[in-house]
Amino acid sequence: MVEALYLDDMFRKRFEAEVISVTDDKYVVLSQTAFYPKSGGVANDLGVLIHDNERFDVVYVGKFGGKISHEVDKPGLNVGDKIQGELDWDRRFILMRYHTAAHVLSGAFYRNLGAKITGNEISIDQGRIDFNLENFDRTLIEQEVQNSNNIIDQDYPVEVYSLDREEVENDPDLTKLAMGLPKNIKEIRIVDIKNFDRQPDGGCHVKSLKEIGKIKIKKLVNKGKNNRRLYFTIEE
Ligand SMILES: [Zn+2]
Repeated sequence: MVEALYLDDMFRKRFEAEVISVTDDKYVVLSQTAFYPKSGGVANDLGVLIHDNERFDVVYVGKFGGKISHEVDKPGLNVGDKIQGELDWDRRFILMRYHTAAHVLSGAFYRNLGAKITGNEISIDQGRIDFNLENFDRTLIEQEVQNSNNIIDQDYPVEVYSLDREEVENDPDLTKLAMGLPKNIKEIRIVDIKNFDRQPDGGCHVKSLKEIGKIKIKKLVNKGKNNRRLYFTIEE
């Protein structure tokens, strides 16, 4: 099991590691990594791996067969090499802001409208959430975006911790979300926006809500029966 450093420290920008495998001269698995792979609808990190003063740009990061794989821009890395990894931090921080904004929006939509989130996609220029809502009522949706911005203004802290599976399954707020997780996972990582919303979650978030900025609606799309789509941006 390769250690994903971002699970415990989402603000880690640099790390050292050893190359475990290299496939096709460009897919690199490391002994540990702070790079977030594209997953859960959130875009991957970018950055650089440095070995003996030579820089290898990381152009994509994905998860394959349970392993985090870093695609680099050129051959030259070998098994056993000691590398230093550096994230493109501006990119990561924007993704954390967008991803945390999606939590706030989905929390507000669920709490106030009973709308369930069915999908999401987070990139560096926009966020998208899909949700089940019977009527395509713009005013109602705009109101919940406003509510989300009011919640952000409360600047609640965002905490991350692990709970035993049993504890999660006995918690009425969490049990539904935990059901889909593989049975062999005994410890479940919880992301807890204090006073607001808790979820099992493997992603990266800001430390308190004001870091998000302000959510702005970019586009609302009616996707047919019960299915609505919101594109949003965030501003400083
Ligand atoms: Zn999350």
